[in-house]
Amino acid sequence: MRCMYCGRTFFKGQGVVINIGGETFYFHSKKCALEFFKRLMERIPLEVSLPAAKSLARELEEAIRKKEELSKKKF
Ligand SMILES: [Zn+2]
Repeated sequence: MRCMYCGRTFFKGQGVVINIGGETFYFHSKKCALEFFKRLMERIPLEVSLPAAKSLARELEEAIRKKEELSKKKF
């Protein structure tokens, strides 16, 4: 396997493998995957990426809130 971001080679099972619409992307580390996604986001129009980011943030916030409520109930 070869990291698509920095070119470093790594063994299958290591690194980060991401599938987007049937295309597979390989990264040797989380850092390389993150850098790739940062640059990918710059190429996605704001009117697409911003609502998606906001809706994901809301979803995660809700999940955290639920988890916190659950842990409160235990005490
Ligand atoms: Zn890399």
